[in-house]
This record gives sequence, C-alpha cells and structure tokens, in this order.
Amino acid sequence: MNKPSIIIHQARWIVPVTGPVIEAGAVAIADGHIRAVGPAADLRRQPWDAWEDHGDGAIMPALVNAHTHLELTALRGRIAAQERWQDWLSAALAEMATLTLEDLQAGAAAGIAELRRFGTGLVAEISNTGLSLPALAKSGLEFCYFFECLGFDLTGAGPLETGFPIFAAPAALTLTNFSAAAHAPYSVSAPLCQRIAAWNRSHGRPSAVHLAESREEERFLQTGGGFFRSLLMLRGRWRPDFQPPGVSPAHYLDSLGFFAGPALAAHGVWLDAADRKLLARRGARVVLCPRSNLFTGTGLPNLTALEADGVRLALGTDSLASNHDLNLFRELEVLREQFPAVPPGRLVRLATLNGAAALGREADLGSLDPGKRAALLLVPVDAGAGDFWDALLAAGAMGEVRWLSPPKETCHA
Ligand SMILES: [Zn+2]
Repeated sequence: MNKPSIIIHQARWIVPVTGPVIEAGAVAIADGHIRAVGPAADLRRQPWDAWEDHGDGAIMPALVNAHTHLELTALRGRIAAQERWQDWLSAALAEMATLTLEDLQAGAAAGIAELRRFGTGLVAEISNTGLSLPALAKSGLEFCYFFECLGFDLTGAGPLETGFPIFAAPAALTLTNFSAAAHAPYSVSAPLCQRIAAWNRSHGRPSAVHLAESREEERFLQTGGGFFRSLLMLRGRWRPDFQPPGVSPAHYLDSLGFFAGPALAAHGVWLDAADRKLLARRGARVVLCPRSNLFTGTGLPNLTALEADGVRLALGTDSLASNHDLNLFRELEVLREQFPAVPPGRLVRLATLNGAAALGREADLGSLDPGKRAALLLVPVDAGAGDFWDALLAAGAMGEVRWLSPPKETCHA
C-alpha cells in the first residue's frame, strides 16, 4: 500500500483555535487529516511531499454554523428588518406561506453553496419539510439534521412517530446525525416537547429548540396572554384548557426533561441569571444568532453574562428570513463590535470548536489539531499596523475565503 503523500500549507499566521496564533506557521495534512501543526521551520525538518506557501494569509479551521434553516434561503431580501419582534414574526409568517416546494428546494441548494462559499464546513440544519436532506447528503458539507416539530394543540401521548411519520423513516433511524427539534415553548405543547426529547434520548441524538428569543415568550408562559395567545388563536392552534406554567421558558423546558440530554437552544436573548445558571448546570448549548436578533428587533444576547455564568455557547446565522446572508464572519464582527472586552480569539472559538462540540463533532472538526479532519480555510489578512483579528474578521466578512482542504472538487455544493 502506498503511503499517503504529505502536503504542507504554510502561511504567515496559523489559527489553531485550541492554542495561540502561530506566526510563520504551517499545517501538514495527509489522507484528508491533519498530521502536524507548528512553526514552518519545525515542519521543514519532517518528511513532506509538497509544500505550498500561501504568504500573507491566515490558515484556520472551517467554521461551524450551529443554527440555520436552509429551506428559507429563498426569503432573502423579502422581509424587512423590524423594530418589534412581533412585527418581524408576522411578516415572516406571511412570506413563508407564499413559498412553494420548488422555492424550498432551490433555497436549500443555494444556502448550501453560500455556506461553503463563506467557509462553513459543518452546519446544523433545522428543517420543517425534510426537503433539504437530499441536498445536504449529496453536497459533501458536514451536517446535523434537525427535523422541527410544531403543535401547540397536539397534546396526545405516544411515540413521536405517531403524527410525525418521518421519525419512522429509514433516514431518521439510520442517520446518526438526524434529530428531532421542538420549534419553541410557545408553539409546541408540553406533551409534544416530552415526546421529542424522548425520541432523541432513545436514539442517542441531541435536541434543539428556539429559546428565549423574544420577551413575549416569557410573558406568554407567565400569563398565557399577549401576542402569542392572539397568534395561536388566529392560526387555529389555541387550546382553551392551556394553563400557563408561570415560569421562564428555560425552566419550563427543563421541567419537561428537555435538557436532560444534549440540547441546542437557539438565541437565548432573554435569559435571566437563574436561567443561565440552569442551562450551565445542564450543559445545554446556547446558539447565539446576533445578527438575526438585531434584524428582528428583539435585542442582543448578554454574551458577557452568559460566559460569566458558564453557559456553553456556539454561533449561528439563523435563516435568511431574519438575516442578510449566511456569513458567520459577519456574526463575529457584530459580537466583536458589541462586546469589545471579549478576546477575539474566544469569539472565533464560538464559530469553530464550540460549534463542533455542540454538534458532537469536536473529535474531528473545529480546530487545527493532529488527527482531526483537514477542513482548512485560507483567509487573506492584510493586518498592516492594525489588529490581526479585526483584519481576519473583515476579510472573512467580505467573503475572501479560500478552501485549502478538502479540495473544491470533493464538495458538490
Ligand atoms: Zn431559527
């Protein structure tokens, strides 16, 4: 058997994520995996077959988008940013109702190509139809698939497959990256939340949900009234026997056992100290989607408090119903701007290693460490006299990202 050839990629900066930035560094890859990372001078002394010097650039691991809805990519530019979250949701629901199956399918394909173009190598896709699954499966992009259930009025018991037959389909049973998601505490009944969590638990899969995205969510669970009651009535989903639990969204889901297993909770904008401590204790992952939060007018999550309370965080774009593009570097730029005291290397970790860990893939993605998959980006960095991290994020935000590995031809997106 032939020995795999060793290719060295050298650049002015290497961003391993698990360690400090290496100047004049290099990454050795062989057989699709990272073999060594370190100063270029050290790697020169080891065996290699091909050497590529990329000059003034930064080599970093592929990004991880831990929350999006690819099927909604066709909504780009069709919903205006709003000042009140309720106005955004009303506008988004009206536009979603106009999407055809072809729009959803075309959106999924366009979204996958866009993720790849902006340097995302692993994505958590939240689907309502299953239509994005074949597109992802053939794309070469790494993914975790969450089929999202809704049903405030679905109070029946029994296995999740009763009512959601997709969970009895071969794809759901054989793909270990296929999970069940609950849309949100205001749109899924307590019994349905429990059935979703139970299905994931029995199949060893993580759960996902939108949590504490708007203040109205808390109000609804405290009082049973407000915007969501009107919305549920309008959509014919209201249940007159509904008793508000009188607790926060995080405590409510926890009382249903939702955080007993691995779980991703998107947004987490309106979490108080008790919520944050609870989620930290449970090990739940809060997936921040800051540009979506600004777009919908709900406000920004309190990154400082979330970190201080030990909540495990990741980063996502959410869908193009509430964002301009699927570029995670732009999410990082917003966090950098809004939370200047957080070291930028730690922000980059949110979009790489933390995301991989949230999706159970930290053993092979999210950082440049020997043994991991060689999913490498080259970002041209023109730091000049300025800050390295700001230059890196700016170049990524402009879409100036090149894939070094895997080579383009192995990805069909
Ligand atoms: Zn979402």
